[in-house]
Amino acid sequence: MYQYKKIFGAVFAAIALSASVFAKEPPLKKNVLSVTYIDVGQGDSILIETPEGKNILIDAGNGPTEWSSFDAGAGIIVPFLKKRGIKKLDYMIMSHPHNDHIGGLPSVLKVIPVDTFVDPGFQYGSYVYENLLELVEEKGCEYVEARAGDKIVLDKYCYFKVFNPPRDRYFRGGSEPNENSLELKLIYKDVSFFFTGDGEKQSERFMMQNFKKELVCTVLKVAHHGSTSSTTQEFMDWAQPLYAVICVGAKNRFGHPKKATLKRLQDYGCKIFRTDRDGSIRITTDGKRYSAELLKESKKSGEKSNE
Ligand SMILES: [Zn+2]
Repeated sequence: MYQYKKIFGAVFAAIALSASVFAKEPPLKKNVLSVTYIDVGQGDSILIETPEGKNILIDAGNGPTEWSSFDAGAGIIVPFLKKRGIKKLDYMIMSHPHNDHIGGLPSVLKVIPVDTFVDPGFQYGSYVYENLLELVEEKGCEYVEARAGDKIVLDKYCYFKVFNPPRDRYFRGGSEPNENSLELKLIYKDVSFFFTGDGEKQSERFMMQNFKKELVCTVLKVAHHGSTSSTTQEFMDWAQPLYAVICVGAKNRFGHPKKATLKRLQDYGCKIFRTDRDGSIRITTDGKRYSAELLKESKKSGEKSNE
């Protein structure tokens, strides 16, 4: 059955890509879910626009630090939301408290009203995280701590299923903020999007043991910018993605994405998109068919990023 899904998915993918790889931003049609992996350099930021008009932001790239004044929230995400005509976020979701994921969130919160803020709840004593939580409180957002097994209903046919962190504990050892990333799947009829934050091997093992076939997805946001600390072969065998999206900055100091991860994705046969080469990537679906478009022309198309 999975093989069947895979073959048909690949055919749709090929047709859709040839038609839309260089298309300009179209207005969303009725019954369409849109997921945009926004190019924020080294970091993650994903905007979800549901068929019934809900807007959800997961992460917002880097914010200013003592070494850099770059703020992806003010410089990239806020203008992007305004361009989409988004005046309010129904949900702001943080994957985990590292700066390349939450650093840009305060600048978004300052200008865009947010109904509900979703946090994996892992205690992390950084200035950036504490400052963000203070702002969430100051703005009067509803605060939700999400854990494995939770369901967040968005629309009639659209919801999140949360897979990580575990309900009754947090992972210890390794990179604790990464392992306790909020990992969740957005499901819209037959199409689904898996968001992994920077989860590593412990979280993958936990999800495989506890959620098994529920991990199957159409589109996988590759964990931890394509690091070899994630995306194990066993995890790929459960997730079986048709598209893989790597949110990563060009020439980053971590050497992400790693060749071994890229090879694993290539060997698996999924179509790979990378924000460092492709810029922002938007995937739209009516719940059955799906297509990807690159929001700006880049040196190489998604097709060639497989090389
Ligand atoms: Zn990261």
